[in-house]
Amino acid sequence: MPTCGDCISYTPKTPGRGDCRINGETTPDRDSERCPSRTFIPKAG
Ligand code: SF4
Repeated sequence: MPTCGDCISYTPKTPGRGDCRINGETTPDRDSERCPSRTFIPKAG
């Protein structure tokens, strides 16, 4: 199951936390199915 850590909008800050360009603070392990804005797009590669 993809997570925020797999999304183009995610920027890591520390190993367990990061920022989403759209939704603000998040964690890399949050399931993409729980994306508040339903805007998960997988990183290329
Ligand atoms: S757009 Fe959604 S899935 Fe992507 S990083 Fe932000 S909260 Fe996570």
